[in-house]
Amino acid sequence: MKIVTRPRVYLVGRTQVDQEVVRQFLDEEATTWQTDGETGSELLCELAGRVCYLSFGDKQGRRSNHDYLTNIIAMEHGSVLEHAAWSFIVTGVSRSFSHELIRHRAGWAYSQLSQRYVDESDAAYVEPDIIAANPELHDIWLQAVEMSHGAYVRLAQGLSEAIKQQYPALPIRDKRKKAREAARSVLPNATETKIFMTANARALRHFVEYRGAPDAEPEIRRVALAVLQIMRVEAPALFGDYDVEFLSDGSGAAATPHKKI
Ligand SMILES: Cc1cc2nc3c(=O)[nH]c(=O)nc-3n(C[C@H](O)[C@H](O)[C@H](O)COP(=O)(O)OP(=O)(O)OC[C@H]3O[C@@H](n4cnc5c(N)ncnc54)[C@H](O)[C@@H]3O)c2cc1C
Repeated sequence: MKIVTRPRVYLVGRTQVDQEVVRQFLDEEATTWQTDGETGSELLCELAGRVCYLSFGDKQGRRSNHDYLTNIIAMEHGSVLEHAAWSFIVTGVSRSFSHELIRHRAGWAYSQLSQRYVDESDAAYVEPDIIAANPELHDIWLQAVEMSHGAYVRLAQGLSEAIKQQYPALPIRDKRKKAREAARSVLPNATETKIFMTANARALRHFVEYRGAPDAEPEIRRVALAVLQIMRVEAPALFGDYDVEFLSDGSGAAATPHKKI
């Protein structure tokens, strides 16, 4: 049985700007815009903010993209940050993690591995560090997970046979779904899941703030910090105000003076 203890966070998509069309807009408005913004997300958020007050040309004011967005964040003009979004695939995480994750609604989209369609007979399981560090507790955990896993495999097989008899006309895909959706009821919270998630900058900041906090659950805190680490490189003007501190157990926690913008 495969045991995992670390999440993987893959950044697979990001916002882009069509520079040619932006130039067309500026030409038609008979104005100019000078910026040193480099990434699509940072350029787009600056552009969106500037459209509010038409602060282009001689009304441009702040010239640096970083200064402009830092001011937007300090002013709590968070809706401007909703224009930039990123997509991630997260693997090596438990169903307890995903249950917490999907509570984040505003500005998020999710697509999660289906336990009705996908056979979990070779599922991996996510073990919390605090259990893995203690051999006696690890044995209890392993025994429980193995028992659930074995029950799932036997139930899936038994249900397949029963469904074949009971619903002979059902297409094979539906027969499998019927068996798996019932058998999964014995799978533990530790079962590994994979989830595709898309979120805008404002939503990601809220997530990092809530789930990167010291009192957040360790698995989701680890993911929040992995997201932050990616975002600080990806869009420093939008995520550069976070500090990471180390807690007494060596794990990290995120904090910013600009909360819930
Ligand atoms: C440490 C910790 C412990 C937790 N413990 C529990 C627990 O024991 N039980 C439990 O059920 N949950 C718990 N949660 C989850 C928590 O209650 C939230 O569901 C989760 O953090 C998502 O936050 P949110 O609703 O602010 O996020 P989002 O849904 O992403 O919303 C972001 C913001 O948008 C606004 N918003 C969104 N929807 C609405 C709306 N319908 N109406 C008005 N404004 C809206 C709010 O300002 C909200 O803060 C916990 C969270 C944390 C971080």
